[in-house]
Amino acid sequence: MNALVRRCVARTGIPSIWRRKCFSSGNEPAESNHVTPMLRHLMYKIKSTGPITVAEYMKEVLTNPAKGYYVHHDMLGEKGDFITSPEISQIFGELLGVWFVSEWMASGKSTAFQLVELGPGRGTLTADILRVFSQLGSVLKTCDISIHLVEVSQKLSEIQALTLTEETVPLERDAESLVYMKGVTKSGIPISWYRDLKDVPTGYSFYLAHEFFDVLPVHKFQKTPHGWREVFVDIDPQSPDKLRFVLAPCATPAEAFIQRDERREHVEVCPDAGVVIQELSQRIASTGGAALIADYGHDGTKTDTLRHRICTGYALSLGFYEHQLHDVLTAPGTADLTADVDFSYLRRMAQGRVASLGPVEQRTFLKNMGIDVRLKVLLDKAGDPSLQQQLLRGYDMLMNPQKMGERFHFFALLPHQRLHVGSQGGKACQSEAPSTSVPGFDELVWH
Ligand code: SAH
Repeated sequence: MNALVRRCVARTGIPSIWRRKCFSSGNEPAESNHVTPMLRHLMYKIKSTGPITVAEYMKEVLTNPAKGYYVHHDMLGEKGDFITSPEISQIFGELLGVWFVSEWMASGKSTAFQLVELGPGRGTLTADILRVFSQLGSVLKTCDISIHLVEVSQKLSEIQALTLTEETVPLERDAESLVYMKGVTKSGIPISWYRDLKDVPTGYSFYLAHEFFDVLPVHKFQKTPHGWREVFVDIDPQSPDKLRFVLAPCATPAEAFIQRDERREHVEVCPDAGVVIQELSQRIASTGGAALIADYGHDGTKTDTLRHRICTGYALSLGFYEHQLHDVLTAPGTADLTADVDFSYLRRMAQGRVASLGPVEQRTFLKNMGIDVRLKVLLDKAGDPSLQQQLLRGYDMLMNPQKMGERFHFFALLPHQRLHVGSQGGKACQSEAPSTSVPGFDELVWH
């Protein structure tokens, strides 16, 4: 908890069970006393029912249906608050498209599959994957594909629809339904939108989550002489339009998510990530497919990672991929909140139902997927030097260890039989030797 410093303050109007202790976020006093509508909403909530968990704070700030950061913003892209790999280079999505086709082939070329993306942003990643599916039309021609997007943001779902469909077939919208939008992609594939993974039909599916798990709410805990104590968010009594961190005086239910033999002094746990992983594992174990998860994170080693994610176009033009550290309690609702993904927790939550691979660094995964060959093809095709420069800049951003190359990781969930030669039963394509090597985690080999 390096950025959080303990200090004692007298507190007025707070239920007596709350200790007179608080955590600063390392950036106080805040220069800006900006009272955002979200801050007003949170203060009202805290005044009515008491301090809230960090998880509740994150959930309100990001996905509150009226004021959440994700719900009405388009925050992605060079002009937005931050930029993600699929927005940086088309190569990223293309290589992921190749990964899904290769997994589809390795697991026996089912006659149908669903591509399910969690948190699809502007829809760019799915669009790049679909371009690969079209280009490999001769391989996939007998396969019935459908697209399923899990998205809570109304604003982003509209942008996804624009990116992916031409609306020549008008979209069907029904805000009350679990499938709140339906249509057909530019290449004629059925596409549907949901707010929750649980509402996506089960069936042979490939799941994709890029920079999705890092926005799921985390609970934060601090080790104390009395055991684990949860960090809450409260109103600062010394500055009534500011928030501060406080420690709960006694054990709270989310403590159950901490490992018994945990050695760190401060931990973040993400029960929602566990729920999603369990759902994915159950689906993959019973109906087949795979999940590919890419995010920044660690393997159970980091402590205090909650922050704002801001990557300005200016920073990008200078060649930086920056996660600027801001006071996460300042001006809530005006910037993203994110916490590093704990891949060791995701692995545990799969509970042996499926096999897991990774995390491997993004630069290793993309190299294994053949990014260098793809870059060369695109450079040869692009006559225009400025286009070539753009391709090279994108490559550098994705692969450079100082930028996204080492910070981001890939992690996969696969049915156990996928990793065992000769145990693929009737699903295996008889004419081809099944391969136990999984591209990205190993070098891509076409069979
Ligand atoms: N995958 C995209 C966008 C990442 S930003 C990319 O890489 O460019 C996070 C995305 O997750 C946004 O689309 C956001 O609206 C969505 N999101 C956030 N919380 C969510 C939740 N609880 N359920 C579904 N989608 C969510």
